[in-house]
Amino acid sequence: MKILLLGKNGQVGWELQRSLTVLGEVVALDRQTVASAYGDLTGDLSNLDGLRATIRLVQPDVIVNAAAYTAVDKAESERELAHTVNALASQVMAEEARQLDALLVHYSTDYVFDGSGDCAWKETDAVSPVNYYGATKLEGEQLIEASGCKYLIFRTSWVYAARGNNFAKTMLRLAKDRQSLNVIADQIGAPTGADLLADIATAAAVQALAKPELCGVYHLAPAGEVSWHAYAQYVVDFARANGEQLAVQEINPIGTIEYPTPARRPLNSRLNTEKLRHNFALHLPDWQSGVTRMLMESLNK
Ligand code: NDP
Repeated sequence: MKILLLGKNGQVGWELQRSLTVLGEVVALDRQTVASAYGDLTGDLSNLDGLRATIRLVQPDVIVNAAAYTAVDKAESERELAHTVNALASQVMAEEARQLDALLVHYSTDYVFDGSGDCAWKETDAVSPVNYYGATKLEGEQLIEASGCKYLIFRTSWVYAARGNNFAKTMLRLAKDRQSLNVIADQIGAPTGADLLADIATAAAVQALAKPELCGVYHLAPAGEVSWHAYAQYVVDFARANGEQLAVQEINPIGTIEYPTPARRPLNSRLNTEKLRHNFALHLPDWQSGVTRMLMESLNK
């Protein structure tokens, strides 16, 4: 089996480079153009012709798209680029997947919803993004669905990875220097490890290749829910319990309204994952287990 992976160096893309290797040959690209046995390949999603040509050269059985324009605030002003990368490039991948009868694996976001209420969003709930990033991700989903290709779309939330920066590491850094921190307490979701997103996508892709009726949109996040404020408290408590010297004395809960950003954020990022767990017979761990593992790695415990 041949797999084309786009966005290989992002949080999720990096983990997919690991998880996909057991399925077959992985041709992994970032936005650079590279010479390969297939010819010159580009994974630049703003170059739609180059992307189409690359897929035609590689002729993959599976296209996995981990690339996206993810700068949520910047997307408000850099609209054309965000739209090209998140919507139009998804359409190119979907059209080419359809021609090749390949499976397209793609990631989307809880930001397709407006964040109202306090129920966990189901795949069938009405979409209504509150920012431009969410709108482009939704359009990407719709273009994939309209193409007639075989696809798996995983909507997720609050992604972190052990590699690079993340919210927990930022909290730890600040907690070392500052006596008090202010953290948003009215946005609720589940911190989702990039490793979990890669592993579940890989396991689900294997099943969907054998049973194409499993294709569709799925919500994917660990079990449980937390606010950013309680998440920060969890991180600080864990670090202290493991011997870290922290200056922080208080973590103050603040409202989203007190932390204005160019793009609005939905308050309710809860995702109902029943469809995924049922259709693929997969288990989702609670969010604490992934966060704890990441903290142990970064604290060298
Ligand atoms: P990252 O921002 O870590 O990675 C995105 C990758 O896309 C980066 O490697 C980036 O490359 C690449 N990229 C951006 N623009 C282009 C382009 N024009 N051409 C090629 N590559 C490009 O994102 P995540 O791994 O966190 O996100 C994976 C998926 O999950 C995305 O679909 C995202 O929308 C979704 N998601 C993410 C959430 C989050 O909290 N991060 C929440 C919900 C969903 P470079 O580094 O060079 O810019």
